[in-house]
Amino acid sequence: MREMRLVETAIAYPLACACGSQQGPLVDTQITNHQGRLYLCTRCVHTAASLHGYASPEEVSALHEQIDVFRGQTAELEEELQQARDQRVISVGELRRELAATPQ
Ligand SMILES: [Zn+2]
Repeated sequence: MREMRLVETAIAYPLACACGSQQGPLVDTQITNHQGRLYLCTRCVHTAASLHGYASPEEVSALHEQIDVFRGQTAELEEELQQARDQRVISVGELRRELAATPQ
């Protein structure tokens, strides 16, 4: 199977995507059949990708933004946790239990 490649314009007949669009960029599938070379426009690639369950570029961008927010929140929580560990305060009862459980 030949490698697909991205081209700005179709150079082989029918000079368009299977849907008829000539709007580049187009994926040149390198496949030729009785109707000519098979090209795919961005809209057709997005439609096919969506049907296969792939996220749209907009969805991917929104997810990346969410990941950045979650990373920031995680870093803040890790810092709070470390501060809480550093400033650990325990009750007298808890201290007695810890001392009782400590081997002599
Ligand atoms: Zn198309």
